[in-house]
Formats: sequence, C-alpha cells, structure tokens
Amino acid sequence: MMTGSTQENSHWIVRLNYRNRTASFALLFAAIGVYFYGVAHSGFAWAMLVLQFLIYPHLMYLRARHSRSPLAAELNNLLCDSLLFGIWIGWLGFPLWISYTMVIGVTINLMVFRGPKGFLQAAAALAAGVLLSLAIQSPQLAHYSYWPSDLLCIAGLTLYLMMVGNVAFTRNDRIRETRDQLHKSQKALQQANQALQRQLEENTLLQQQLREQADRDPLTGAYNRRYFDVSINRELSFCQRHEQPLSLVLLDIDHFKSVNDDHGHQAGDLLLVTLANLLHQHSRASDIVCRFGGEEFLIVLPNTDCTTAKERAEQYRVAFAAAGVTWLDQPVSRTLSAGVACFPAQANDAAGLIHCADVALYEAKKSGRNRVVSFSDETREATHLSS
Ligand code: GH3
Ligand code: MG
Ligand code: MG
Repeated sequence: MMTGSTQENSHWIVRLNYRNRTASFALLFAAIGVYFYGVAHSGFAWAMLVLQFLIYPHLMYLRARHSRSPLAAELNNLLCDSLLFGIWIGWLGFPLWISYTMVIGVTINLMVFRGPKGFLQAAAALAAGVLLSLAIQSPQLAHYSYWPSDLLCIAGLTLYLMMVGNVAFTRNDRIRETRDQLHKSQKALQQANQALQRQLEENTLLQQQLREQADRDPLTGAYNRRYFDVSINRELSFCQRHEQPLSLVLLDIDHFKSVNDDHGHQAGDLLLVTLANLLHQHSRASDIVCRFGGEEFLIVLPNTDCTTAKERAEQYRVAFAAAGVTWLDQPVSRTLSAGVACFPAQANDAAGLIHCADVALYEAKKSGRNRVVSFSDETREATHLSS
C-alpha cells in the first residue's frame, strides 16, 4: 500500500501527465488528421483517430486518478500509450515524422520515471504494437508525406521536449523545497536541543548549589550538623574496612559569650568566621570541618591516630590564640579548648566518639581552658569510663 505522501506525489504526476498527454495527443490528432487528408482514409479511421487522440487521454486520467496506486497506474498508462502508438505506426505504414514523434514521445516519457529500464519497456511495447498491427493487416510502407503534417509533428515534438524539461524542473524544485524544509527543521531541532542542554546544565548547577547550601552553615561555610551525621558513618565504615584509625576533635571557644556581651554579636560572628577559616587552612581535603552548634566545631580526621589528632588540635589552638582578631579597633581574640577522641581506640561508633570527645573537652575546660585533652590520656580515670 502507498503512504499518504507517495499518493500525493503520484497525484501530482498524474495531473501533470494528464495535461501533457491531452496537449500532445491533440497535436498528434492534428498531424495525423492533416496526413489523412492526403491519403483519404475511411470513416472508421477518423473515428479511431478521435477516440485515440481526443478521448483516450481523459479516460486514462480517470483510470489513474481512481486507482488505489495512482503512480503505478499512470506508469501503466505510459506503457499502454506505447503499445497503441506501435499499432498506429504499423497501421499507418511507418510515416516518418509521425512515427518518429510517437517513438520519441513514449520512450522518453517512461525513461523519465524508470530510467533506461523504462526506455526498454516502452520500446518493447512499441514493437509489440507494431507486430500486432502487422499481424492484422499485411505490411505496407507509406510513401506519402505532407509538409503541414510534418511541421505539426516537429512542433509537437518540440513542445513535448519542453514539457519533459519542465517536469524535470518541477521535480528538482520540489526536491529543493523539501530539502530546505528538512534543513530548517533540523536547525530548529538543533537549537531546541541546545536550549534544553543549557537548561539541564543550569539545573544541575542549581541542584549542586542547593545541595552545597543544605550541607553548609551559612555564616562560617563549615559543614553543618546534618552533613556530619550523614558523613561520619560513611567515614567510619571506610576506615574500618581499610583498618585505618579515625579521630574526632571537638572545639569550643573559651569565654565566647563575653565577646558578644562586650563587643556585640557581629564581633562574635567575626570570631566564629576567623576560627572556621583557620580550621580549613590547617585541614586536609579529606578532613571534615563542621560547625557543631553555637561556638563549637567538630573536625573529623580520617586515617589519623590519637597522637596525630592531638598535634593537629594543638595547631588549631595555637593558630587561633595568635589570630589577633580586632573589632572596631578593639582586640576580641579568644582561646579555644579541645577534646580528642579516636576510633577504634576509644569508641567504635559516632555516638561513642562524640561522647568521648565531649568528656575530654569538658576536662579541658575544667582544668583551665586553652588546652587540648585527649580522652585516652587524661580522662579515662577522671570520668570512670572505659571504652
Ligand atoms: P566557655 O568558655 O565555658 O565555653 O564559655 P562560653 O561563654 O564560650 O560559653 P557559653 O555556652 O556560655 O556561650 C556560648 C555563646 O555563644 C552563647 C551564644 O549567644 C553564642 N552564640 C551561639 N551562636 C552564635 C552565633 O552564631 N553568633 C554569635 N555571635 N554568638 C553565638
Ligand atoms: Mg559552648
Ligand atoms: Mg565556649
């Protein structure tokens, strides 16, 4: 079955062939009619002439138009033209210009649609027609020629060749039009794709930013408690799998409340941001610096044992004490106290580690502040806890 678009195309070809056939057959009618004057043909011959060249084109058009496959029907029409022209050529006795016009007309016509194969088909149908006419009547050669008839044939042939040229042009035009449309749609599709791609990239970026924002404390840029809760278990299981230690450092600014009280909340904020920056400066990429609450920070140190963690906490403490923070030309620097707890030496899970670090921090505060206390070193006996 034909598709909708093929049917449309074939209708277009059927209509074009109808116009061409009607016009060229009318010219052939005139050429043969003029020829008949010279050779005095019968009424039957005249009737055949009218039927073939004036009525036949309309019948063939109707046949193709009402066919389920108009294009295939029209190509059959062309074969039919060839067969009938063969009969006419044989019947008339091969008059030179009339025969030449008919042969060229039908062979080129089929060649336009089917290439060399079409030419051979048309030639075969012509030959079949000639043979058929010779079978009906004995062979005879027309010795008569009449210049007005020849002239009409030449005019008809010329007109026909112009029509063939026009068909080729119209076809090319349609192909170009379709190609242009295809090109335009491809371009539009490409633009839409690019816009979609940009939108997707923007969305991904936005999602990343949102995720970052959700994980961070807006004041200091440190990770928040929520992020700590999610990541500590991941870090612990990694260290467990790879038989590595992990340490927690819990920091608290000493007498921080007095900064707020004496210099205002903004001075307190400045101190918090200063501490967060220092912690980031003294940390590795794999460390996780979190603001645990208020002026307390918690640092996760993967693959770090107790001794190294205590040294690191000491670095934090010294750096913060030396920070020399001022607010409105007033010194607002403070010290910090820290508690250190280690996995697997003191605890095996996040809650246990935080508890140990908290106990150690409490011990640091109790014993005078501005110091680092490791849970295992100095707090085990004081708190009566064992891991
Ligand atoms: P200690 O040495 O025992 O830790 O004493 P401290 O004054 O540091 O401890 P305290 O817990 O009494 O005070 C913590 C203060 O931190 C109280 C609270 O107002 C303040 N604070 C908590 N969050 C913020 C913040 O985001 N900005 C500021 N400026 N202050 C905050
Ligand atoms: Mg505190
Ligand atoms: Mg404090």
